[in-house]
Amino acid sequence: MRMSKLLAPTLRENPAEAEVVSHQLLVRAGYIRRLANGVYNYLPLMWRVLRKVEQIVREEMDRAGAQELLMPILQPAEVWQSSGRWDIYGDLMMRVKDRHGREYGLAPTAEEVITDIATKEVRSYRQLPVNLYQIQTKYRDEIRPRFGLLRGREFIMKDAYSFHSNQACMDLEYENMARTYTRIFNRCGLETRMVRSDSGAIGGSVSHEYMVLTRIAEGEQESGENDVFYCDSCGYAANVERAESVLAESHEVSPYNATEIVETPGAVSLEIMHRQFKMHPELILKSLIYIADEKTPVMALIRGDYDVEEVKLQNAVVANELRMATAEEVDRLTGGSAKGFIGPIGLPENHGIKIVADASVHGLKNFFVAVNQVNKHLVNANWNVDLSIPASLVDIRRARIGDHCPECEGTLQMTRGIEVGNIFQLGTKYSSSMSATYTDEDGTEKPFIMGCYGIGVSRTAAAAIERFHDKFGIIWPMALAPYQAIVVPVNVQDETQMQLGMDVFEQLEAAGIEVVLDDRDERAGVKFKDADLIGFPIRITAGKKAAEGLLEVKLRDQSAAKDIPAAEVLAYVQQQIKEWRPFAQSAQPTAV
Ligand code: ATP
Ligand code: MG
Repeated sequence: MRMSKLLAPTLRENPAEAEVVSHQLLVRAGYIRRLANGVYNYLPLMWRVLRKVEQIVREEMDRAGAQELLMPILQPAEVWQSSGRWDIYGDLMMRVKDRHGREYGLAPTAEEVITDIATKEVRSYRQLPVNLYQIQTKYRDEIRPRFGLLRGREFIMKDAYSFHSNQACMDLEYENMARTYTRIFNRCGLETRMVRSDSGAIGGSVSHEYMVLTRIAEGEQESGENDVFYCDSCGYAANVERAESVLAESHEVSPYNATEIVETPGAVSLEIMHRQFKMHPELILKSLIYIADEKTPVMALIRGDYDVEEVKLQNAVVANELRMATAEEVDRLTGGSAKGFIGPIGLPENHGIKIVADASVHGLKNFFVAVNQVNKHLVNANWNVDLSIPASLVDIRRARIGDHCPECEGTLQMTRGIEVGNIFQLGTKYSSSMSATYTDEDGTEKPFIMGCYGIGVSRTAAAAIERFHDKFGIIWPMALAPYQAIVVPVNVQDETQMQLGMDVFEQLEAAGIEVVLDDRDERAGVKFKDADLIGFPIRITAGKKAAEGLLEVKLRDQSAAKDIPAAEVLAYVQQQIKEWRPFAQSAQPTAV
């Protein structure tokens, strides 16, 4: 390919609408152009990158024994109605009508369609297990499609679905997919962490996310959208929604002598309680009121120095939705005299509030608690003396940096992560609701046990840029780069330089290397800038030393360059391609 012909419209400035670095660089380096909000044209460079990701995914899925197929984007409403998700999926699904008024959704995912296939075509246990996958465009009317390819409204996803006759077989395939995912992302040059996740609305219980860890420079927009806790001693890693930690021991003792209600005017925050009334947060029983599914009031109790992780609380009360109660709701529920001094003591009779206590409250002794009376606290309260300890204690607290790891002696750290893939055990959620059964060995009809496995193909490409870039542009892992090398004759008017450049270019191309010749009559500075911006892993320059038959070879991720005789360039380039291991050089996320 010649640069003069390549449609790679590079820009000098970052586009105003791009908040994250991958979005900025993809637009600036001429990879993508926006067509509508969250909808992009993939220009030639981008399409090459996406095809590379797809190919790695395809090869590894095939190797793992899965079979590729292709399902339509246009999915009839009926198939979604049969699982009950036509209504539940809500505005996230783009919907269209045909000329007869029939309704369709544009595939946000394909559990329903694949289950429909299995119902009709997989009749017997003899056909199980089976794992089917596709690489297909998906549509989701995301609320905030603002991160370029990281969160588009149209994007490319690999989605796989497996069907099993028993749980042991499901478990084996889950492990098989877990291994496959690690291989896929490693081949993409990306180190990922397999993180326990909350499976949320999709159902099922076992699920993991694959996170590319990125550390966000101060002042830069977050791109991960996910906080991940990890332990560096043992490899424990979990999404914040799920992360556990060992409760930090408290050695605080109450400075009060007696158990009594004391005046605490204006003490509506932990800070005031601590500063003015010597009530240490580790001795405070904190109470927060939420509304689950717009009907059930929930009071969460937790030790004052910890925060409630709302997803954990939502799961603990088995709700689909959870929000903080409004001031009016709190007034109504607590009898109107609390005014911010909310607690589990002194609630009106028949208050109807479900009380959920975090395990951190168990060890509290001589603690401080509000009693639903304005400007008052009970001090030196004790369980089963002043109030009874809740029957069940759960984990609803948000882990903190520095807490002890739940699985070893290590300490938890936090970073941002980009979810590039996930794996789920769905159980019989879809097969039950859609009556998808097979005939088992004993002749009875049984629902399939299912798993599903997603990879964001376009997001993976963007995540690689979030992870590998510098102020000059993209630093592609070799496996994803649109071209592996660029040959730059510094001055195309100089016949020696141009000839040597052409020779090397032709030689590399003949050897199957993906290479671009920058034949433009531009200043060297402009060419080098574009090469760095686009992120060619190898740059081969024919400059002043061309007369001596020497070319300067520079790797994008290193500052030093090397002079190499023309006859040895091919071998050198081949060796660089073979030895490329980007994530090994930076096992831990580095600040950008
Ligand atoms: P997220 O929590 O980021 O919205 P998700 O849980 O909705 O992701 P899945 O429905 O399981 O994701 O989709 C599988 C994969 O598809 C994700 O792991 C992610 O890599 C990718 N993906 C999901 N939504 C988008 C999007 N809007 N744009 C690009 N890729 C996406
Ligand atoms: Mg989503």
